[in-house]
Amino acid sequence: MTCPHCKSVHTSERPKRTELGYRRFLCRRCGREFNERTGTPFNRLQYPSDVVCLVVLWRLRHALLWRKSSYGTQSQRGSRFVEAILTVVSSCQQQGRNVLAYLTACCRAFSMGRVGPSLLPRTSSSLRIC
Ligand SMILES: [Zn+2]
Repeated sequence: MTCPHCKSVHTSERPKRTELGYRRFLCRRCGREFNERTGTPFNRLQYPSDVVCLVVLWRLRHALLWRKSSYGTQSQRGSRFVEAILTVVSSCQQQGRNVLAYLTACCRAFSMGRVGPSLLPRTSSSLRIC
């Protein structure tokens, strides 16, 4: 295993695994300890990598199914529109907001020359995880 800190290949596996069961290593060059997830986006997550990947896949499922059933878009502009709408739908769902009410408010604001409502959560506690 290559050390993520100094890129040395002179490492040895430690006898104990992490709390989540990942292998631990010791770098003989820099003396630092690391595990299979060190230096990856999964480092320090409290859930196993396969569970995190399943959650991400589940969150992307709607967009993937849409793309598969609609054969994608025909232009960059169409792709940006789909990205924006899927973001609105996902954000509203996570915040427990009504998508149609949000889009209606955006259209009303646009027709009156005003700035539309924010898509950001009103408070951090209003976010729902999964
Ligand atoms: Zn090292």
